[in-house]
Amino acid sequence: MKVIFLGPPGAGKGTLAGLVSKEYGIPQISTGDIFRDAIKRETALGKRVKEIVGRGDLVPDDLTVSLVRERLGQPDAAKGYILDGFPRTIPQAAALEEFQAMDAVINFSISDEVVIGRLSGREVCKSCGAIYHVKNMPSKVKGVCDNCGGTLYTRPDDTLESITNRLDVYKKQTEPLIEFYRKKKLLQDIDSSKSPGDTLVQVRKVLSRPK
Ligand code: ADP
Repeated sequence: MKVIFLGPPGAGKGTLAGLVSKEYGIPQISTGDIFRDAIKRETALGKRVKEIVGRGDLVPDDLTVSLVRERLGQPDAAKGYILDGFPRTIPQAAALEEFQAMDAVINFSISDEVVIGRLSGREVCKSCGAIYHVKNMPSKVKGVCDNCGGTLYTRPDDTLESITNRLDVYKKQTEPLIEFYRKKKLLQDIDSSKSPGDTLVQVRKVLSRPK
């Protein structure tokens, strides 16, 4: 099963991709996680993308596409995967088509107000990447991950300025993908303003339908 999770920042793509990855035994491939990991480890890639990611702008298409192409060639992706945060532009989607055919594209729809509320309280585990929210989904012990005991932190791009820019970038560059995939009859819309559990029920329904 090869599936794309599409939607604005804060729509819950990462949270749901984590849940689906566990349930279906396929990897979650998140370009945002790949970039954040490179930034943390201060690799050449990390140095190149640090400011772009911090501002909430997009990393250049050629760089992003070659990273994803490489990642999809790894053995664990042979059975299927969830693409979380890729493609994010029409050229990225066109490039992806050249080397992989998708089974479904799930469009997580949600209002700007809910997105801003979610992102401004988001916390992420430094070790395992689990996602929390100070109000809506707090960890049991403040600042500590329920899964692995790791330390929780606030992403540097979860400032109001960067969130506003990410939403803007999403509308200009990523939203056109909705029509792109709808025309190809791959798109399935789900309402992701509900809890992760409720959203998961909708995602399961989509994934159990034959193509
Ligand atoms: P969110 O969906 O919450 O904005 P992500 O973790 O998906 O966060 O992405 C974080 C940042 O990583 C983006 O704002 C962008 O700078 C970069 N990024 C992630 N995926 C892509 C992509 N497909 N193309 C270009 N830049 C990307």
